[in-house]
Amino acid sequence: MANMECVLAPHDAGARWPWFVGLAVERFEKWCTALKPSHTEQGLASILPPLDVLMVWHAYLLNPGCYAEDGIRVKALEGLQQAGEDLAAALGHGLSESISADPSNTRIHNWVEMTSTPFDPFQSAEHLMSRDILCPKCSTTVQAPYMTVEGTGYLQPGFSLTCTRKTCQFTITPETIRTPTNGFDQRRGQVIKRVILRALSLHLSESPLSEAARFDSVMTSADYNMDAVRQMLTVSMNDGKFIDRIMSAYVDDKIFSVELIGAVLRQGSFVTKMHNFQWTRPAFFDKFEEQIALHHIIARYHAFMELMSSSPGTFLVPTLDIDLAWHTHQLMARQSLGRGAPETLVSGFS
Ligand SMILES: [Zn+2]
Repeated sequence: MANMECVLAPHDAGARWPWFVGLAVERFEKWCTALKPSHTEQGLASILPPLDVLMVWHAYLLNPGCYAEDGIRVKALEGLQQAGEDLAAALGHGLSESISADPSNTRIHNWVEMTSTPFDPFQSAEHLMSRDILCPKCSTTVQAPYMTVEGTGYLQPGFSLTCTRKTCQFTITPETIRTPTNGFDQRRGQVIKRVILRALSLHLSESPLSEAARFDSVMTSADYNMDAVRQMLTVSMNDGKFIDRIMSAYVDDKIFSVELIGAVLRQGSFVTKMHNFQWTRPAFFDKFEEQIALHHIIARYHAFMELMSSSPGTFLVPTLDIDLAWHTHQLMARQSLGRGAPETLVSGFS
């Protein structure tokens, strides 16, 4: 393990885990945006990322609706989509062996080539000091340190950075940072709007503003604050859940519509419970009589799904064994599409 002294890591033990997860998300982003569908031809074992990055991928996969939609919406995630299918197919067919084995030279080489950072997360922490972000106001690229002694780093709760462009000097904070607008989303938004207007038989004249000017006018009136943009949406759309779903794609400067640091941290408490039960111990369910327990779990999961779909609007909390079956099914969501993918069975279980 690398010497941690030279890394600007939080001194507070409680802040170290979120910091480590934050860097893992940075590493995941580097890897998955560099991953091309052609890389997957080498086989999953050769392109598997390090364990910290797998942890982030796993948490992302546990949001199958967002994961699948991001894959369609964001071209840079094409390779990840392909690799995700290979990952699902490897569940129970050699994946745990590949993860437990010492990484092969090919696997390390592929990782370093794609991300230009060391395979070991602690060595990598010495290299990962900042990320380039776009000023939400003037689109200048600004270097944001991950950690600062003042607590204003990108991975710290008090994140704050002043745009370096002299004529701008906008204060970039978690409230104002956003995903740079995606052309595909804009086109899709236009299509949806046109369809709605046609259905309403409205004869509205086209806005005199160009697309860029209209975007500027919205952001200026919201003072570049994404909470204010959300408020503006609330005026014309009263479905809060729907607005949250749309806004989730833009609340930070990453391409994912899931806030992955929070997703990993939440997943941690579930894994701790599984670990305390010893269900994560190797070979825990290997004996035939122990596998009967798994068959029971799957039957209980099916019964729970039926209960959920027959009682919409009822708040039902699954037991941990049912939750485990749900998590496993989510990882195979794409495989099971059309054959009862979790989110097509029920809408309230997440
Ligand atoms: Zn600026």
